Amino acid sequence: MRYSPFGKTGFQVSALGFGAMNLPGVSLQQAGDTLNYALDHGINYIDTAAGYRNSEEIIGETISHRRSEYFLATKTNKRDYAAAKEEIERSLVRMKTDVIDLLQIHYVNYVSEYKQAMEENGAYKAALEMKEAGKVRFIGITGHRPELLAKWISKGDFDQVLFHLNLAQPFALNELIPMATQMGMGKVAMKPLSGGFIQPVEKAIRYPYSQNVDVIISGMVSVDEVKQNLAAMEQEVEEEERKELEALALELGSHNCRRCNYCSCPIGVTIPDIMISSQVRQTLGLLPKGNGFYERQKDKILSCADYEPCREKPLCEEKCPYHLPMQKVVQEAASYYR
Ligand code: SF4
Ligand code: SF4
Repeated sequence: MRYSPFGKTGFQVSALGFGAMNLPGVSLQQAGDTLNYALDHGINYIDTAAGYRNSEEIIGETISHRRSEYFLATKTNKRDYAAAKEEIERSLVRMKTDVIDLLQIHYVNYVSEYKQAMEENGAYKAALEMKEAGKVRFIGITGHRPELLAKWISKGDFDQVLFHLNLAQPFALNELIPMATQMGMGKVAMKPLSGGFIQPVEKAIRYPYSQNVDVIISGMVSVDEVKQNLAAMEQEVEEEERKELEALALELGSHNCRRCNYCSCPIGVTIPDIMISSQVRQTLGLLPKGNGFYERQKDKILSCADYEPCREKPLCEEKCPYHLPMQKVVQEAASYYR
């Protein structure tokens, strides 16, 4: 596995990062075994968030005795100073550590949220104060809208940026990754499987591995999953394979959905998941988790065609900043059940 300098932080980070978001769904024993196996096998970047249920506590319980062996990244989704400060203090306690290597302002997708976090009494001030107090080493930002993130990071306030990059969401390549590179920032890609849709896993992991990013965060909950992810990164990606993966990403990403979640559907269709997975489903087939999603959404997807208030003008499409044809994609997705 590759190790690279992480922006200007002075850390060398492993290309595979441990995404701890789903650890609360397994036993503490299994979570601990998985995390310790990952550390034993060269993974040195652990990613969590205050908002991932008790994920931070699991990290504190199971690997804080090995604290010098990993770069620890967490997040706050609070936007105001007081709430963010309180949450960062709580993260330190929960993870049983004196210092958080990277504190990210979490899930910033709206201009109004960015402004709120950056204003005089915003979350950024809390992160900065904690940095000055030696309790946070670096500050980053995460979000689902690469073109907005590219603008925001260009101001020079952040050391790192976390974004989607997978075969079905290649959009960070356009402006965000070049800007982060120019700014000398740490670049972290998340959701290589796009939340459980893209298979085979090896191919899914190798796409972001072929690109100019430092760490790929993969959510793992078992030793087998760690092994599978590590195996996908054993060999570097050669030029020919990279070109093939890029061509596939152009095809699978043609839906253009950024997963910004501006849209909502009154009958509960999970539109971004359908936008992002439809082409994947037809081209590669889905992972079991993706098929489970389609089974759960069946009634809703099938109801879209008959939903009266959307007959004249689809309600969802009015809200999409990218003007995407969501109604058509959702109704075509009904072919899954035929
Ligand atoms: S067009 Fe379909 S997916 Fe869009 S809001 Fe209406 S019912 Fe929901
Ligand atoms: S369909 Fe449009 S509004 Fe909905 S998540 Fe995708 S890009 Fe955002």
